[in-house]
Amino acid sequence: MKSYREILTYNTETRRAYINITRDVEEALKASGVREGLCLVNAMNITASVFVNDDESGLHRDFERWLEKLAPENPHSQYDHNGFEDNADAHLKRTIMGREAVVAITNGKLDFGTWEQIFYGEFDGMRDKRVLVKIIGE
Ligand code: ZN
Repeated sequence: MKSYREILTYNTETRRAYINITRDVEEALKASGVREGLCLVNAMNITASVFVNDDESGLHRDFERWLEKLAPENPHSQYDHNGFEDNADAHLKRTIMGREAVVAITNGKLDFGTWEQIFYGEFDGMRDKRVLVKIIGE
């Protein structure tokens, strides 16, 4: 069995952002040489997410509005976690949007459903954050 590990780094210009990282994961898959197996992609930070969904800008604005209703950033004082930090909302948003995606690898390709793409969701950005890609298979 082959095993491949790669770290991707993202630094967004805004506090919150959604980035389609599918091409980066496909590059990692190519480098791995794996044809049949599994690909795990996970945020290595507790205020960022990796999830699979549609690459449609209206939907991304809907995610932003929905998450702001569930866990509004402001006022910072509404959260017990805030004090030294101001990112309680980002922890909550990360929990809702998830830590990781696992995608099957079939015939050397990511085996997606219709319109599926892999996204990095940033909720407390403007600094380097890591994403792990771990690929196992043959
Ligand atoms: Zn925090």
